[in-house]
Amino acid sequence: MSESFLLNLWILLCACLVLIMQAGFTCFESGNVRNKNSVNVALKNVSDFCVCAVCYWAFGYALMYGNSIDGIVGANGFFYSTTTNSHETSFFLFQLMFCCTSATIISGAVAERMRFTGYILVTLLAASLIYPLFGHWAWGGRILGSETSTPGWLEQLGFIDFAGATVVHSVGGWMALACVLIIGPRLGRFNNKHGVNQIFGDNLPLTALGTFLLFLGWFGFNGGSYGKIDDMLSSVFVNTALGGTFGGFVVLLICIWQQSLLSIRFVLNGVLAGLVAITASANSISSIDAATIGGISGALSFFATILLEKCKIDDVVSVVPVHLIGGIWGTLALAIFADGQYFIAGNSRVDQFLIQLLGVVTCGIFAFGLPYMLIRLLNRVYPLRVSPRVEILGLNFGEFGLKSETFNFLKQMRKNKNSHKNKQAVSVDFFSDIGLIEAEYNAFLEVINLQQRQADINSHRLSRLAKTDHLTRLNNRLGFDECYDSEWLRMRREKKPFSLLLIDIDHFKLYNDHYGHPRGDQCLQQVALVLASTAKRPADCCARVGGEEFAILLPDTDSEAGEKIANDINIRLKALEIPHLSSPIMPYVTVSIGIATLTPERYDSLDQAYLYQCADDALYSAKQAGRNGVKAVIIDEAHEQTKK
Ligand code: GH3
Ligand code: MG
Ligand code: MG
Repeated sequence: MSESFLLNLWILLCACLVLIMQAGFTCFESGNVRNKNSVNVALKNVSDFCVCAVCYWAFGYALMYGNSIDGIVGANGFFYSTTTNSHETSFFLFQLMFCCTSATIISGAVAERMRFTGYILVTLLAASLIYPLFGHWAWGGRILGSETSTPGWLEQLGFIDFAGATVVHSVGGWMALACVLIIGPRLGRFNNKHGVNQIFGDNLPLTALGTFLLFLGWFGFNGGSYGKIDDMLSSVFVNTALGGTFGGFVVLLICIWQQSLLSIRFVLNGVLAGLVAITASANSISSIDAATIGGISGALSFFATILLEKCKIDDVVSVVPVHLIGGIWGTLALAIFADGQYFIAGNSRVDQFLIQLLGVVTCGIFAFGLPYMLIRLLNRVYPLRVSPRVEILGLNFGEFGLKSETFNFLKQMRKNKNSHKNKQAVSVDFFSDIGLIEAEYNAFLEVINLQQRQADINSHRLSRLAKTDHLTRLNNRLGFDECYDSEWLRMRREKKPFSLLLIDIDHFKLYNDHYGHPRGDQCLQQVALVLASTAKRPADCCARVGGEEFAILLPDTDSEAGEKIANDINIRLKALEIPHLSSPIMPYVTVSIGIATLTPERYDSLDQAYLYQCADDALYSAKQAGRNGVKAVIIDEAHEQTKK
């Protein structure tokens, strides 16, 4: 096998390894968000990969690696077409994967609240403009396997970024920072009383798997960037491995030192930060340097995460601490640790540091400043953030309409919460994660429903008791008043006459004195039975409103009908012939009745109390007239309101 063939194969393999980083990012980010957003994040990762590949193929590659115009921008090779130069073709694929990596970094920072379409627009900006242009400045001259074009202006100055700590990771990190500043933190992230509310991802094992996939991909990232297969390739691999592991190791030590295993998830970020930093110089440092750079980067990522929280910047998967801070540190560290033979001839470490710093600052201005302005502008015309409702519901459902078992369960619970009736059992899916919870919830509901039914029965009984006269089983005053209120309103609405009868037993004191109280009670019960059997329409309301005083409400009853009922009462009562030997008027128990009837046109000018008063006056007249009789008054238009 020729050396050239092997190299070509190697670059293709590395392109595949970098593609695995996409899988790594997908796992890392979807595991780091709440279940309600995980599908959204995963689909964003696949979609941005496609968008990036299309853009990079159409313009990105040409702008980055086309023949340079003064080291500023490449100008040919749009819509890349494969050539017979297999090295260049493999290189194109390798670089395409790099571009996709840079753009996908953004998605983790803006997760759980950025609109899908808004995110795709930001990806377009990253893949077609920001990444290729900055890439041209730093790498434009190093196209593999073809005529070397004019190097980019930073490259000409001696800026070194081996595999993209700045070009790939800081560019993605800066753009992510611009986005999170514009769209703001997730709801509830920074407004509790402690200032910070930790929102944990729902699937940290998936995030851990993502970390390993990214680590694996990184070997392709750095190994392919080396562009050769020689003795140094193994060092690049070892340095990569040491950078990543030391990043994680140092964060682990910090967590143990701080006795805070709550922060243990930062170890994953530490690994990635170490890998990012080592990307700038993996080919030009010793193993001990790689360990140092990676370790420091891990520590920086840890403290940068805390700082971001203090500044109330919500970066969901710590993109800024890992990719931006790690990238900046790695790029500057190159000047401190790398072998001087890699610098432009004659450059001291200080010179190199200043050049590296220039690259970092340029990247900041270009990959943060310009996107910040453009994305802000875009946000004005096309809001990039989902509505609070969608954010609360979760983007899986809010944006894609994907219902989950949890969502369905919550929906049914919410419906139950708002229903005043019996709570409905939720459907149980025993094959889902929450099937057992649903079953428990249903069992709990059964208990609640049973208690509720018992409480309803008791409350109904109590309310009935409170409105009933215990002696006669008629309504008492309270029951009467309630009935009076509702029937008054109904009659007023229906414009119908309303009659009220007040009935008082004649000389009942004498009856009591003569027969004793218990017989008096029996008498009251007999009178009550007569009244109840006379006024027996459903709307009629019969009540004992005082000691031996009764009232009957007769809705939709005119004076004539009211008088008839009153006379019926008298006739029925007399027919009972309840002896009343001490009565000065006749030997049986009798009653006096006052009737007041309101005609419909008077509802607006009079109230219930007045009708009652008129009935009472009529009763008084009946008593005055010798008792055992009926007196009626009609409150119509001719009736003068005298006693209001
Ligand atoms: P009038 O014809 O003017 O109505 O004379 P009256 O004696 O019926 O009226 P008065 O108001 O002087 O007396 C009412 C009596 O009703 C007094 C009281 O002994 C009796 N009474 C009130 N509540 C009860 C009760 O619950 N049971 C019994 N047995 N008697 C009661
Ligand atoms: Mg009385
Ligand atoms: Mg009486």
